[in-house]
Amino acid sequence: MPEVKPKTESQKALEKLGLRRDIDLALHLPLRYEDETRIVKLSDVRDSYPVQIEATVTHQEVTYRPRRQLIVTVDDGTDTCTLRFFSFYGSQQKALAVGNTVRVRGEVKGGFLGRTMLHPSFKAAGGDLPTALTPVYPTVAGLPQAYLRKAVLSGLARADLSDTFAPGDLEWLQHRQHQNHQQPLWTLRDALQFLHHPTPDVSIDTLMDHSHPAWQRLKAEELLAQQLSQLQSRRERAALKAPQLQAVEGGTLHARLLAALPFGLTNAQQRVGEEIAKDMARRIPMHRLLQGDVGAGKTVVAALAAAICMDAGWQCALMAPTEILAEQHFRKLLGWLEPLGITTAWLTGTQKAKERRAMLALIESGEAQLVVGTHAIIQDKVKFKNLALAIIDEQHRFGVAQRLALRNKLHHEDMEPHLLMMTATPIPRTLAMSYYADLDVSTLDELPPGRTPIVTKVVNDARRDEVIERIRAQISQGRQVYWVCPLIEESEALDLSNATQTHADLAEALQGATRADGQPVLIGLLHSRMHVDDKKAVMGAFTAGLMSVLVSTTVIEVGVDVPNASLMVIEHAERFGLSQLHQLRGRVGRGAAASACVLLYSTGDAPRLGEAARERLKAMAETNDGFEIARRDLEIRGPGEFLGARQSGEAMLRFADLSVDVDLLEWAKAEAPMLLDTYPHLAAKHVARWLGGKAEFLKA
Ligand code: ADP
Ligand code: MG
Repeated sequence: MPEVKPKTESQKALEKLGLRRDIDLALHLPLRYEDETRIVKLSDVRDSYPVQIEATVTHQEVTYRPRRQLIVTVDDGTDTCTLRFFSFYGSQQKALAVGNTVRVRGEVKGGFLGRTMLHPSFKAAGGDLPTALTPVYPTVAGLPQAYLRKAVLSGLARADLSDTFAPGDLEWLQHRQHQNHQQPLWTLRDALQFLHHPTPDVSIDTLMDHSHPAWQRLKAEELLAQQLSQLQSRRERAALKAPQLQAVEGGTLHARLLAALPFGLTNAQQRVGEEIAKDMARRIPMHRLLQGDVGAGKTVVAALAAAICMDAGWQCALMAPTEILAEQHFRKLLGWLEPLGITTAWLTGTQKAKERRAMLALIESGEAQLVVGTHAIIQDKVKFKNLALAIIDEQHRFGVAQRLALRNKLHHEDMEPHLLMMTATPIPRTLAMSYYADLDVSTLDELPPGRTPIVTKVVNDARRDEVIERIRAQISQGRQVYWVCPLIEESEALDLSNATQTHADLAEALQGATRADGQPVLIGLLHSRMHVDDKKAVMGAFTAGLMSVLVSTTVIEVGVDVPNASLMVIEHAERFGLSQLHQLRGRVGRGAAASACVLLYSTGDAPRLGEAARERLKAMAETNDGFEIARRDLEIRGPGEFLGARQSGEAMLRFADLSVDVDLLEWAKAEAPMLLDTYPHLAAKHVARWLGGKAEFLKA
């Protein structure tokens, strides 16, 4: 076996930062810069600004009050400055002997006792000054700047930085750079070299806000890599086959379902339904995201797509992230489809072995044309006869692997099923254009008629009594109320006691409350630790209207549909994320009654709420529009958290900022097809350079 040198701490730290290849090092850009190119006169020094001076030591002493420290006075002919060190070696004392001239770098603070520098770095005066700014890189413990600088420098020298595409191919970019900056086109090599070692005459602001043409070049390259990679995966998919599910005219399940629905479709539902039908009628697998605000009516769109699939003689599966949600779908679909003679199977991790065996048999024989369930659907034991349409609700709650597993459930002549993903968290346009560029997106931009907008109030927890009065009023009018307690992540036990306590408090506070129908006022409790049967019983009683108030942890977060519920109280609303608040609020306002959402907040011991929490609550009070909420959420949190399980952060954009670089993104999107067609091997090289092995993440 060849001898392998053990890795040093610094090498391990480099790997931890993901800096393995030369190109990775070359693309590891400075966080900021230090200017060591100039010597500044002490008389010109601005307060609290890092500078470099050259001065002669005029005095040195070690004092012990208030604690041991080395105090050195230096004079550069224009003024003096005191250097202060709390820890120091004898060698340093020696280097700072009176009469020595030294080059000192640090922040100067003016004060009562004159200028001082705390723990500056220094060396003997003289020697050449560097001609470029000194980069300061993002780093981790165990990886000193000096080591990292050297590593980056050699990575930069070794990496292949030749432009992937000839400058002529990036004509627009060239044009744009001429126009904006009257500068020649930056090659990738020039841009990187400059960003690592900029000349001191550069405007630092353009480096820090990434508007400098060298930055533009880099961001354009990165966005292009992302677009190329997604286009590539879209084309790979187009080479796959899928069952052709053509909608047939008249007398079909689809037509009968439409006729049987107690309502007419909205225009948006009709349009989206046609988009989906068109996809399914093709021989290549659909890969479509259906986005629509909470309550927009995605379920019926899914049911109609399923009907087309069943009309063509194939099976359809619907997977939801929680058992409660899956069951709601099951009941709703059963209600619509059973009268039309459709057999629907139900699969969940908690069902009894006997029931499960029966379901598996129904699915395998093809007798069950529709299968609804949780993750249980993707287990190996589940064999479909001929699955042609896979629908995933609340897609962001599933991981890449789970989506792939569902797609692999069709074992049929190298085919894949059509995939319809649904989400209530609308994706802002820039994200749809970038991270989701390989998806087709359908949008339900219209709510069913007759909904009254939800009024949202932000209320200090100190006014809880008033909120309880409101609940009393709602109950007396025969309405129902949700009260949501926050999930306390560190401790399920705390979580439980919190919800239990609130439940007990409410029961006491609502004593003597009356219902319009004279029935007793029941208050239910639902939390994550309950047995699934108990959860179902509680949910069932609330859905049936037997329970007036439902206290719960966020288990009702997604998809629950009780039109008679008209008030949503969210306790400790400041702890929830924006899209989560919006989803919760969407549980009310589903019927014709005027609905309200109360966001109870508490500042705890702090005098007021934190900035981000305030922003979130404000956004909630100001708008009911899911797209606006999503936009603000993106603003507050950045895309990383937004994308959730879609990718593990590996394939995130590092340099481009979607809130600023929309025009570059548009350019990359427009350019990618031509480049991929004309120069497939260059496109592959470009993607490999930028994404390395991470491109896979973008495909699922
Ligand atoms: P979501 O998009 O949040 O999943 P649902 O599919 O649960 O929304 O629909 C919310 C409610 O609106 C359901 O009670 C559903 O039956 C009803 N609904 C859906 N479409 C219409 C429509 N076109 N007209 C009236 N009610 C509708
Ligand atoms: Mg839904």
